[in-house]
Amino acid sequence: MSNTFRAYQITKDEEGQKVALTTLTEADLMAGDVTVKVEYSAVNYKDGLAMTGRAPVVRRFPLTPGIDFAGTVISSENSAFAAGDKVLLNGFGVGEVHSGGFSEIARVEGKWLIPLPEGISARQAMEVGTAGYTAMLCVLALENHGVTPESGDILVTGAAGGVGSVAVSILSKLGYSVVAATGRSSEHDFLTSLGASRIIERQPFSDKAKLLAKELWAGAIDVAGGNMLANVISQIKYGGAVAACGLAESMELPTSVAPFILRGIALYGIDSVMAPIAKRKYAWQRIVKDLDFNKLETLSSGISLEEVPAAAEAILSGTIRGRTVVKIS
Ligand code: NDP
Repeated sequence: MSNTFRAYQITKDEEGQKVALTTLTEADLMAGDVTVKVEYSAVNYKDGLAMTGRAPVVRRFPLTPGIDFAGTVISSENSAFAAGDKVLLNGFGVGEVHSGGFSEIARVEGKWLIPLPEGISARQAMEVGTAGYTAMLCVLALENHGVTPESGDILVTGAAGGVGSVAVSILSKLGYSVVAATGRSSEHDFLTSLGASRIIERQPFSDKAKLLAKELWAGAIDVAGGNMLANVISQIKYGGAVAACGLAESMELPTSVAPFILRGIALYGIDSVMAPIAKRKYAWQRIVKDLDFNKLETLSSGISLEEVPAAAEAILSGTIRGRTVVKIS
């Protein structure tokens, strides 16, 4: 391991949070039993919040942000991993309370790592990243509820973003009829290319939801929360389900019990951060099987470590298409 390495570091003083790309040494690494040479990371919505300080995602200072990474083990005191192993990390507080992926070197607990799934590269793993793995957790929640391609249309909100674009791709490969809701008319062709059978405007979903609206969707994946999720819930068909993972519109949920007690629908909360290892491994296996990696390439773009602050601003303003992968080393 080289003596120094490049990493972003977030510090905090009386004036607030500051972020800088800096040079660190091994002494700056946090405690952990596996040291990893990070090859790729990605810019997720939460990374945007962490880098800009727009929400209190970072809760320990100084800290290197980056909630996910893929790379190669340099050294390990954990019997499950050895030098040279290819590994992947999503969440577990990394990039929030433990230094993360926007660094050439990361030291983490081995119990947070999973082996890089057979058949995909470190770059592809980060093209999927936390957003894509969360999209798969949402798909699994709908499947477990019993939603099948025969059940009817599935709505995906924030469809041109990270979670949304991977969700559209997976669902369409699984044979579902996917309706993509987007606020960006410029992304209609992109969404059609990912497999959306129809595209609808997100704007009407920003109005206050009715108690019950016309039944339209057998299932839905929502990244927005707020009025968007409330409207989606009011439009779910009898017995259907929504998998909700995000707050791109709001943390609030201005809904009522009506769709739950009159239509027997379900709302599944999706958390990627603390999901158990067995569930993660299954989700990643399903990603390898059920995601078209040619489509994945079209929905992701690559940036350098220097470009992370601009990408962090862009993801919060909702202008990023699909996934943004960071080449680290
Ligand atoms: P992106 O920024 O890539 O995508 C979010 C998309 O939401 C945007 O591209 C936009 O899509 C849409 N959007 C933006 N603003 C609004 C708004 N005001 N109302 C409705 N829709 C809006 O982020 P990600 O896909 O990476 O993440 C999406 C959400 O999921 C975030 O809130 C993130 O924190 C959460 N998340 C949660 C996880 C968990 O474990 N629960 C894990 C990963 C992500 P369009 O332009 O197409 O409308």
